Amino acid sequence: MEKQEYINIAEQELLHTYNRFPVVLDHGKGVYLYDTDGKEYLDFAAGIAVCALGYGNEEYGNSLKEQVDKLLHTSNLYYNTPVIEAAQKALKSSGMDRIFFTNSGTEAIEGAIKAAKKYAYTRDGHAGHEVIAMEHSFHGRSIGALSVTGNAHYQEPFEPLMPGVKFAKYNDLDSVKALITDKTCAIIMETVQGEGGIYPAQSEFIEGVRALCDEKDILLILDEVQCGMGRTGKMFAWQHYGVKPDIMCCAKALGCGVPVGAFFMTQRVADKSLAPGDHGTTYGGNPLVGAAVSAVFDLFEKNRILEHVNTVAPYLEKKLDELVAKYDFLTARRGKGLMQGVVSTLPVGKISAKALEHGLIVITAGSDVLRFVPPLVIEEKHVDEMIEKLEASLLEVAKEQKQQ
Ligand SMILES: *Cc1c(COP(=O)(O)O)cnc(C)c1O
Repeated sequence: MEKQEYINIAEQELLHTYNRFPVVLDHGKGVYLYDTDGKEYLDFAAGIAVCALGYGNEEYGNSLKEQVDKLLHTSNLYYNTPVIEAAQKALKSSGMDRIFFTNSGTEAIEGAIKAAKKYAYTRDGHAGHEVIAMEHSFHGRSIGALSVTGNAHYQEPFEPLMPGVKFAKYNDLDSVKALITDKTCAIIMETVQGEGGIYPAQSEFIEGVRALCDEKDILLILDEVQCGMGRTGKMFAWQHYGVKPDIMCCAKALGCGVPVGAFFMTQRVADKSLAPGDHGTTYGGNPLVGAAVSAVFDLFEKNRILEHVNTVAPYLEKKLDELVAKYDFLTARRGKGLMQGVVSTLPVGKISAKALEHGLIVITAGSDVLRFVPPLVIEEKHVDEMIEKLEASLLEVAKEQKQQ
């Protein structure tokens, strides 16, 4: 079948919730993807910060294949060994005490909110608690996760959402302080805001929020779904700061392509929160995803992924800074490690589309940010290739805009 036929059929079958680019991806190798016509794309999106190990990693693939032949699924009524090993590795790398595996980032957020509410319920002997979230945040699309997502456009058609959510300004400690009441049970935020436009937390802010939480026994929920798993140069982005969350959410690169998420908590929270009957999942933490997560942690260690990120990220930053300095239509760069954003006055959607023509996958964040979240295994030569393709795309879009 021809590419266009696939696309036509897809547009009749799949619910139209995405305006997709006219590309049908077929396979991947290293940091490159190939479409059904055999065209090569350098991938600086990693399936939205998922494929940290790139494509076709043999050891990762073999771990999955072995598990497929052995046992795909049981249920959470029994124990299984892959998930026990995965949990051990995840807890060791985070310093957290307890973990619950989910099937997505959204579900990790749902679990985290429930855990925080239950903690406050146990402590106070009643329900009716509130959550403080951040403007321009993104936590997912289910009703609970959407309720803490600070984006009116995403929320409006689905109201009323979960009640008791207030929105503070990210990186503005006073705006958080002003919203705290006796009912506040949790403050939820991304350690680095992703979809909202790549905004890292400032130290004074995140450390200030931590201090407020300690003072008032409010739980700090950090959403590390996008910025976690080595992306910023530490296993979890909060490890850059003098803070530790009470509850942490993780997903995306946790399974490097297998649908898995998790929420982690400290023992102090676990003691007063979700108990048998309070929460559950059919698939969550099944043997297949357990094997994937376990292999991911092993390969991060064996291939020294964090060291690699810390070596290659400064090069990416330098190259992006040079580009920002060179062109008026690029106004700023911000980010941490291999989670970078460049602000542009040109329409960023058009740049993404043009980049595809040049064989580069780069995505957007917010309304005016180009987002760079490549596989963590990229090398300097890939940065050079990306910059070359991006620059060509930018110049063409700039020219087209002028002609209009
Ligand atoms: C992607 C994302 C989510 C939602 O994860 P899904 O796996 O798409 O459900 C939540 N929080 C952040 C910060 C994300 O980037």
